[in-house]
Amino acid sequence: MLAHNGKKVLAPVNGVASLTADQKFFQIKQDGSWSTTSPYQFRQYDLPTLLESFDEGALYSLDLLETPLKDYFQKFSKDSTFKIVLSPFCRYQHLNFEEMILRDMKVAYQAFFELLQIIFPKAEISNFFKVPSLDFEHPDGIPEYFLHRQFHEPVFQTRKSLVNHEVLFLGGETIFHILRKLYYNEPFTKRHLAVFLVDRKGRMDVEPRRFFLTNGQSLAFIPANLDKRYKIASFETVFEEVKPLDVTSLGYFNIYEHYSITLYEKLPASRKEFSCIDCMECNNYCPTHANPVQLIKGKTEEFEKSLCISCGICTVYCPSGIDIRKRIEGVLV
Ligand code: SF4
Ligand code: SF4
Repeated sequence: MLAHNGKKVLAPVNGVASLTADQKFFQIKQDGSWSTTSPYQFRQYDLPTLLESFDEGALYSLDLLETPLKDYFQKFSKDSTFKIVLSPFCRYQHLNFEEMILRDMKVAYQAFFELLQIIFPKAEISNFFKVPSLDFEHPDGIPEYFLHRQFHEPVFQTRKSLVNHEVLFLGGETIFHILRKLYYNEPFTKRHLAVFLVDRKGRMDVEPRRFFLTNGQSLAFIPANLDKRYKIASFETVFEEVKPLDVTSLGYFNIYEHYSITLYEKLPASRKEFSCIDCMECNNYCPTHANPVQLIKGKTEEFEKSLCISCGICTVYCPSGIDIRKRIEGVLV
């Protein structure tokens, strides 16, 4: 195990660990394989042993960025009243974790639910698993937006409730890894990676390919195994700023950073920004009614920045190719 900048990094395989060229991440050259087929085993926890297990498993919230689960749970006391929200979605819902959990880990999920009731007896648990009317659409995986949709509170309010620890929020992917650690004794050393393909005409396949990879594993198998026409790759989703890479230089899997890869046959030609045509698509598609068009019109004070969740939807839909996302970044800092 290695410690770097206060983060624990588990090395689950026989291999050689080194720093990447930018000195930001560890990479592990694997020379062994590691099986993750441990059977379910019920274990009893109290708060101290739960925290210990989170720490031992190097578990992070995959909904709230840069938050170790041990630190996160420590903010909540057994004697306080607060909300616990179990969401079936993960931040970008690249994969259906609800289905995976209810199909393969149902008993563990029930055990964890009961554990939360015992550990936090005064908390009100809202369980959104198996709610038939809940169909994912981006940005449902962003915690403050999910809370806004489900509890009908303004986004600035739900954001505040997360920051002030009035809500303990756990999304599908985070729950998946909690169950693996608590009841299968599997630390957070593997994560799913969704691979999307975008063809020449810009059409994206609906169902991504799914891989369950070990931290530090080389990603060279992706171009080696997929259609050779897809030469450009990006770790960002279409809602983020795409930073294209040559598909042969993907490097190593970083469990904290990588959850999806989009492979392009051809990147859309870099579009010139045209003038705003007042179509209002940005405002129409904005899920929180933050009024992004005003940023383009130079009326920054009329943009409701406290409602913006940086989902990127306005930028994707702008027919004039205006990088609204960039303008938002400028006013949110
Ligand atoms: S302004 Fe744009 S980035 Fe912000 S919430 Fe609306 S659509 Fe999303
Ligand atoms: S979507 Fe683009 S072109 Fe349309 S109003 Fe918004 S900024 Fe202007």
